[in-house]
Amino acid sequence: MALPAVFCLPIFRLFVTSITPSARAAAIAVVAPLDKILNYAIPVDLADEVCIGSRVRVPLGRRHVVGYVMNWAEPGETKLKDILEVIDPHPLFHQNHAAFYLRAARYYVYPPGQAVRTALPAGLSALNGSPGVLSDKLYRPTNSAEQPQGSRQREILDFVRAKGLVTLSQLRQTYSAPHAVLQRLLELELLHVEEIERCRDPFAEIGVAKHSPVELNAAQQKAVTLVEAALSSSQVFAPFLLHGVTGSGKTEVYLRSIAKVLEEGRQALVLVPEIALTPQLVSRFRSWFQDRGVRLAVLHSGLSDGERYDAWRQVARGDIDVVIGARSAVFAPLPELGLIVVDEEHDGSYKQSEGFRYNARDLALMRGQMDEAVVILGSATPVLTSYQRSLGGHLAYLELPERTAARPLPEVHLVDLSQHEGESQLSEPLQVALAETLQAGEQSLLLLNRRGYAPFLLCHDCGAALRCPNCDITLTYSQLQSALRCHYCDFHKRPPESCDRCHGIRLLPEGMGTERLEEEIRELFPEARVARMDRDTTSRKGSHHRLIEQMSAGGIDILIGTQMIAKGHDFPSVTLVGVLNADTALNLPDFRSAERVFSLLSQVAGRAGRGDRPGRVMIQTYAVDNYALDFVARHDYRGFADLELSQRQVLAYPPFGYLVNLVLSGNDEARVNRAAEQISVNLTTGMNDAEVLGPAPCLLPRLRNKHRVQILLKAKLREPLRRQIGQLQRLRTQLPAGVVLTVDVDPVDMF
Ligand code: ADP
Ligand code: ZN
Repeated sequence: MALPAVFCLPIFRLFVTSITPSARAAAIAVVAPLDKILNYAIPVDLADEVCIGSRVRVPLGRRHVVGYVMNWAEPGETKLKDILEVIDPHPLFHQNHAAFYLRAARYYVYPPGQAVRTALPAGLSALNGSPGVLSDKLYRPTNSAEQPQGSRQREILDFVRAKGLVTLSQLRQTYSAPHAVLQRLLELELLHVEEIERCRDPFAEIGVAKHSPVELNAAQQKAVTLVEAALSSSQVFAPFLLHGVTGSGKTEVYLRSIAKVLEEGRQALVLVPEIALTPQLVSRFRSWFQDRGVRLAVLHSGLSDGERYDAWRQVARGDIDVVIGARSAVFAPLPELGLIVVDEEHDGSYKQSEGFRYNARDLALMRGQMDEAVVILGSATPVLTSYQRSLGGHLAYLELPERTAARPLPEVHLVDLSQHEGESQLSEPLQVALAETLQAGEQSLLLLNRRGYAPFLLCHDCGAALRCPNCDITLTYSQLQSALRCHYCDFHKRPPESCDRCHGIRLLPEGMGTERLEEEIRELFPEARVARMDRDTTSRKGSHHRLIEQMSAGGIDILIGTQMIAKGHDFPSVTLVGVLNADTALNLPDFRSAERVFSLLSQVAGRAGRGDRPGRVMIQTYAVDNYALDFVARHDYRGFADLELSQRQVLAYPPFGYLVNLVLSGNDEARVNRAAEQISVNLTTGMNDAEVLGPAPCLLPRLRNKHRVQILLKAKLREPLRRQIGQLQRLRTQLPAGVVLTVDVDPVDMF
């Protein structure tokens, strides 16, 4: 890799906006469960060091804690405590980032200091300094033309003279133990040396795909033209929804838009669901930008603390043009951000499910607004909220309705499991299709849905599951209590004798029962090369990448996997996609279950027939007449969206209403229940424009030995809901000991 991208120069540009020498106090977000920003005095001896974005040590009560300087402050009347120390040599973010972090924290009702800590690279929350900054040595020849005596000395000197500038790490790659020789050459004044800071490059070893230029088709061209127009008009917030079917060439639109924003002298941020799962995308970006001398940083969960810190500092300094990253990269401190791309914006991994429960897709829009940037949300199956926003004119709608190179979308067949009971997990039609695909030398993907699981009763005649009359979600079945229960509103009843819809009596608890799948396939197709892709087989670093490469190279005939296999991969030889158990996903007790199934199945179907040969999809289900499956089979996003939206409207579910989920947990069940009752009564009093559902047991009523109860707040307008959650901070202080309240604004999963 070329020198400039790997090595940071030792000179640090100062943060011009951050310097206000006259400020005598600073507003600091301390890492503690406090909802306020605190003011501290800046002692004279630290005046030159404290900047907005500095990480500092401050006293809080009798402890010392980490805090982040968010702004300057007025000293005021009362005597302030002093900042004790500035921990890092450089500030971590700029003033506009500070404002964004604080607004995000407020929106998600999360303590600001803890929110900032989550936003920053890991390893920066401790009091004892930052992850080590690595150093390197940079050698260059002096003007002397003399030749040294020893042959090894001559060899190394010639090498440095030929290159002009060489680092110690590079020399080490070529010569073993060069240190003594280099030392000697320095003494002879044949070489110069200087210390430089070394930035780790975690992607150095990942291959770069060859880039073959394409000519945009009409739909792509239209999208690019509109985005370019927004980028070249004076800075305004311009959000787009790029709705392009799978394989329609969305990436090409992103690349051109990024090229444009760089031309305008600003920077780009690209969010992708999970970097480790999208090496193909990263390598396409690298190949495109490498030739153009664009400085790219990749932020992802596989980085070490040091690597992440390196990348972060480069970004903050303005040394990076394009950042690609997963969820948390939405906080990356690009100083002149002009474009944010959220690829696969429907993906659930944009929502953080613990602690600071932000949604990076929504924050991308918030940040775009604050930074006056263009935002592109791209997907083949946009979340209904985004689609509804485009209908309302809040997102400009861009459409790529067809696959590139006139490739057809795959044919989708539903296999009725009630006709194939007892045939093993693979129905006969799917077995036949697998055999045919193998015979033709083509590849198959088998999707095994494993996302969350709650037992439910399924009618094996018509495929219907029992639903809550109030909330229209699947009732959760408890065999032990012989009861069905709604985990939103706590409605419950005894299991009926027969199906409400078709009066069939084969109402059976649905289980997973798919553990043996791989074995079964190996027995059925002993000659096939079978592999599995899930959390277990991909937990080792790089193992996922290897599976993808193996698949791309044709070394696998049948790949079995969880949701992971649905994510944006481009395997041209896949012509069959099988879905084993559509019903468990359809009946997840969640108002979004149909949307999720539509999205997941459309995405996985989108993996079939991306090459020259057409693809087909087979979905096994008891619910062959389910509307979501029907729309998947017809590739009809809009038909699905319109119907689903009209149903959402009836019950005021998002996007026609707003939700906040409160979870109370603790070791003592009775105490947790009492606290939940109390909070629910408190919130209900005097509130008639927001509903309080529950308390009801969470889907996972016991987790890590804690008893868990939830209260779901629901309102047509955001304001009443915000007023209601405004009280939570006070109610939190009144909780009995041992009971914890977590707040989830715009929840995605309610487990
Ligand atoms: P999406 O992200 O929409 O699923 P991709 O961006 O992965 O689709 O594009 C699918 C394939 O089509 C890629 O192999 C890409 O190189 C190719 N492609 C993109 N645009 C064009 C075009 N205008 N003409 C021909 N091929 C294209
Ligand atoms: Zn209910």
